[in-house]
Amino acid sequence: MSAKIIDGKQIAADIRDELTAEVSALKERGIVPGLGVILVGADPASQSYVTAKERACEKIGIYSDDNRLPAETTQEELLTLVAKMNEDPKINGILVQLPLPKHIDEAAVLLAIDPDKDVDGFHPMSVGKMMIGEETFLPCTPNGIIQLLVRSGVETSGAHVVVVGRSNIVGKPVANMLLQKKEGANATVTLCHTRTKDVGHFTRQADIIIAASGWPNTVTADMVKEGAVVIDVGVNRVEDASRERGYRLVGDVDFEAIKEKASMITPVPGGVGPMTITMLLYNTVVSAKRANGVD
Ligand code: NAP
Repeated sequence: MSAKIIDGKQIAADIRDELTAEVSALKERGIVPGLGVILVGADPASQSYVTAKERACEKIGIYSDDNRLPAETTQEELLTLVAKMNEDPKINGILVQLPLPKHIDEAAVLLAIDPDKDVDGFHPMSVGKMMIGEETFLPCTPNGIIQLLVRSGVETSGAHVVVVGRSNIVGKPVANMLLQKKEGANATVTLCHTRTKDVGHFTRQADIIIAASGWPNTVTADMVKEGAVVIDVGVNRVEDASRERGYRLVGDVDFEAIKEKASMITPVPGGVGPMTITMLLYNTVVSAKRANGVD
């Protein structure tokens, strides 16, 4: 069997089309969703993420307030800017690109963001609400994974989902979201990490595997049940002399071997990746609607 490829680019494009229509309807009512973006320092990967986020905003009609600050910016200066954005009615979402330089306390900055504008879903208030199943901003990569499953017709209710990786930005939140008592969830969830004695023992029982370990080939074909759905969150660079840039991107699973065994699988690139920014746009539009009392 060759797995159906879950096309994250297409699903992300569909959601962005829906959001574009929503933004234009909001504009007719005089509402322009706005995202405040803060980047401290000149880390090339962060710069390219931020540029991609700003371009995506522009494309669907979201106003973006771009703040690129020098690496020497103090924590106080950063907190002052966050406080200003918290008060700014044109800004519905605040995005502080992580990681921040070492002299800045990341947790203090995330805590300073008004939870009503926490479109990344990293504020402890948002995390707590997610945990107890209350309405909140859901973190973008995990929510993107759920959307990929739902829009591909994958039944999560009653399914055994095994998540490999327990980070605060992917593994823990996606596991938590999938065990909620609601549509697109209701799964039985197992969470594996580096202290798990035999990861394969668990993944072989999984109807759905979500791999977020940060290492190529963490999940190999012998660890996958025939017909399982495999979501690969990983983005890893591996050397490839045949490519002009000297490397290619791979995920955390052995895609070529697993696609012969799984029923559905996400590619890397083009799977989970395009969903992350899309869900950030989604949260910003939701925030603008909430702030203006639109259903
Ligand atoms: P992370 O913070 O490095 O966490 C990795 C997790 O995987 C840790 O909990 C670690 O366990 C666990 N782990 C590592 N090797 C393992 C193994 N061999 N077996 C079992 N568990 C293992 O990574 P992250 O931020 O969650 O990201 C995970 C991957 O997703 C990375 O490749 C990242 O680039 C990618 N990512 C993609 C997107 C996107 O938009 N597409 C967004 C975010 C992240 P311990 O806790 O025990 O150390």
